[in-house]
Amino acid sequence: MKNLKKIELHVHLDGSMSLELASKLANLPISVLKEKMLAPSKSLNLKDYLTKFTFPLSLMQTRENLELVARDLVKQLENDHVIYAEIRFAPFFHTKEGLSLEEVIESVLKGLKNEKVKTNLILCLMRGLEKEKNLQVIEVAKKYLKKGVVALDLAGDEKQYPLKNYLNLLKIVQKENIPLTVHAGETGLSDLKDILKLDVKRIGHGVFSIYDENILKEIKNKNILLEICPTSNIQTNAFKIYQDHPILKLYQKNIDIAINTDNRTVSNITLNQEYQKLNKYFSFQKADFDRINRNAINYTFLSSKEKIDLLEEFLKND
Ligand SMILES: [Zn+2]
Repeated sequence: MKNLKKIELHVHLDGSMSLELASKLANLPISVLKEKMLAPSKSLNLKDYLTKFTFPLSLMQTRENLELVARDLVKQLENDHVIYAEIRFAPFFHTKEGLSLEEVIESVLKGLKNEKVKTNLILCLMRGLEKEKNLQVIEVAKKYLKKGVVALDLAGDEKQYPLKNYLNLLKIVQKENIPLTVHAGETGLSDLKDILKLDVKRIGHGVFSIYDENILKEIKNKNILLEICPTSNIQTNAFKIYQDHPILKLYQKNIDIAINTDNRTVSNITLNQEYQKLNKYFSFQKADFDRINRNAINYTFLSSKEKIDLLEEFLKND
């Protein structure tokens, strides 16, 4: 699994700060940080899981640290043989000590520069954040679009903040022609129904579609890719145990999927490990992973020319 070239489309920067780096930045032992940054194998729900972002966010409020966290994540991607990743984070959460949104984004972009792993950013609008602030993130996304930023996302707790309250915001994104992926159907069905009212090509998680044939059909017919993060879904209690995860069923129904970690630290998982689990529990083989990754390239937010180059690199023997 380690040598397979991989594409990762759904990975959060703040949820993926390594314990080693956090230990250095916070001057705390790793044992203490595990408590603060790793979700238990079973959280109560998504809301509970999301509490694990508070501590890493507190360490990501300066230019230097943001750059270090970005560099730290690229190193992890390199170890997983990820050749292209779209990394997401909510820039507004990094302005608590006075950084501007521009400074936040530029610091992260600086840290992401790497010869082996190509990356781009997806900026997260947040459920629960004031509309004014989300609008500022849309503005800054426009400014950096195709200059390191490729899309916007909507993240946060879908139970507490249903998608229907954000449809107008997302319509603005689409009016501005900014590509969009949205967390939906991670813990319920109603957000999925709402997201299908918009023309999106990717959905974060979307795993609850397995419970509704019509939604599945629509996802299939509209050629929407589901960004699947199995381990994370088990931790948030969307499914009881790994064997209950619908990824194989979705794959067998020819739904387009990508395989992702979501949060490498909060979920205590590497992409290699996620592939190993899929092999162990669902018998995914190299050919399946290759097919999934090759297909995922079509759904990246890259330009057509960049997709061709990426596919070429993916197929190259090295
Ligand atoms: Zn996510």
